[in-house]
Amino acid sequence: MNRPEGPGKDPSIDLRGHKAGQNVSREGYIRPQPDDLQLRIYPDPVLRQRCRPIEKFDDRLRHCVLKMFEVMYEQQGIGLAAPQVGWDARVFIVNVSADPENTFEERVFINPVLKFPTQQDRDGFEEGCLSLPGIRLDVDRPVDVKVTAFDVTGESFELEATDLLGRCIQHENDHLDGILIPSRVSTLRRLGIRSALKELEDEWKPVQ
Ligand code: ZN
Repeated sequence: MNRPEGPGKDPSIDLRGHKAGQNVSREGYIRPQPDDLQLRIYPDPVLRQRCRPIEKFDDRLRHCVLKMFEVMYEQQGIGLAAPQVGWDARVFIVNVSADPENTFEERVFINPVLKFPTQQDRDGFEEGCLSLPGIRLDVDRPVDVKVTAFDVTGESFELEATDLLGRCIQHENDHLDGILIPSRVSTLRRLGIRSALKELEDEWKPVQ
């Protein structure tokens, strides 16, 4: 994976886009408090990180997940992954209605594993990403996905998803492996957004 251009130039900023001395645990993993979580924009290096599994289903995890919902609704998103708020954990949330009142559509996926049917139908659809403001790309993905994951209490569950929910799950799960939508499209389509990406790179500042 290439190191993004912007942040690597400043030695006081680590690969996760943190200024020296921020809240990083001894193992090098980020152990954020809920209030530390804020939206990260491309090319923040945390977005390129492969995230680690959650081991403790504790209050801190629950509060961080609640904070993620707050950030997602503020931005009118339908899905948000932990690295998008500066947290390198295998966690993402979804509410395809984007309506905070519609809590029945709220889903939390912790340590998710995705499986695809052997006979795959694929479909193209325009996707946006809260970490890539102003950019929309037609992304080709399998229509059906099966996901096993844990909820915030540590209960495992299995879900078969299709349409918008299936697509959103695949998009958010990509974030946990440091994959953003420009990596999911053809070189030609990527060329079409080159100047928009350059603009984001020029505007980017590390989170204080
Ligand atoms: Zn995204």
